[in-house]
Amino acid sequence: MSYIEFHDVVKRFGDNTVLDHISFGIEKGDLVTLLGPSGCGKSTLLRCLSGLEQVSEGRIMLDGADITEVPASKRNIGMVFQQYSLFPNMTVERNIAFGLKMQKVAQDVIDRKVREAIDMVELTGKEKAYPANLSGGQQQRAALARSIVTEPAVLLLDEPLSAIDAKLRKSLQARIREIQQELGLTTIFVTHDQDEAMVMSDVIQLFHAGRIEQAGSPVEVYTKPVSEFAASFIGSYNQLSRDEFQTMTGADVPAGHVVAVRPETIGITPDAPTPADAAGCHVVHGTVVGSTPRGNVLRYTVRVGAVTLRVDALFRSFHMFDPGQDVYLSIPKHDCLNIPEGALRSAA
Ligand code: ADP
Ligand code: MG
Repeated sequence: MSYIEFHDVVKRFGDNTVLDHISFGIEKGDLVTLLGPSGCGKSTLLRCLSGLEQVSEGRIMLDGADITEVPASKRNIGMVFQQYSLFPNMTVERNIAFGLKMQKVAQDVIDRKVREAIDMVELTGKEKAYPANLSGGQQQRAALARSIVTEPAVLLLDEPLSAIDAKLRKSLQARIREIQQELGLTTIFVTHDQDEAMVMSDVIQLFHAGRIEQAGSPVEVYTKPVSEFAASFIGSYNQLSRDEFQTMTGADVPAGHVVAVRPETIGITPDAPTPADAAGCHVVHGTVVGSTPRGNVLRYTVRVGAVTLRVDALFRSFHMFDPGQDVYLSIPKHDCLNIPEGALRSAA
């Protein structure tokens, strides 16, 4: 039995089935990410778990108890939203103390816990500040402190970083993950950003149109997409139709499948590889169209017949290719994944 269990959860708004028989479990202390495009039902599932929405069908279990009918206020679940949800007329420390005050905790205990929470999210010195005088990142850290200070059984984070700029976002991702692990807090994190899901998660639940398309560790989901949809969402896969791949390589692809290849698995060389280097690879000849620096890799676009491939190579200045240059690509056969076209389970 898992700490949290969704059993065949269905949620409809009128005729619109937003959650379509969702079943999965979450282990105590894990951080699970719900990853998927906008509108696929991620927030709705969090709202059903927190009790802000009622499910249409199915059951939700928390720590062995059926909480499907339990009111939101009795579920002991903390939540942080994308939009800052601090009380604007309260200082940081009063915002953080709010939940404990509601629980009628003794004032000296409140003072201690609020101080600890402020330390944890690194807002020391901002105790007396009002939300309007904090940056977006500071407001989200205050919101995080407010939701963990009551020691909830489960923490729900609904795209808490999507309004925050890229650099700060990375440091907040790391801080949230550290705090979550330090406290052993069972957490569900919602995002539509694959990189964020990769760095934060113990388990990724990839959503598609109200259903779970794939579940697994970040490495599993990254390296073994189960469908064309999954491969299009994670890992910048090159996706070739059956015809395209067969024409390019002469290899057979089962009907109803596409071939997905990650850019970093493809080797690029100016000359034809030696038979030893080519062992286990499809070797194809192409022409460089262009390149884009992406951190420590250069992403080339290479034209091979009618197909354009993305190829990532380490950014080494002594070994770069110019547009128009002829190159050989070595594509390891075991990195060519035959996966079903489209999504595994299209919505009802
Ligand atoms: P996500 O968080 O993945 O972007 P949501 O769970 O917010 O998606 O929404 C999923 C679908 O449910 C959307 O089509 C949205 O319009 C619909 N929806 C969400 N909340 C309501 C509501 N209260 N009433 C009607 N439709 C809703
Ligand atoms: Mg949402």
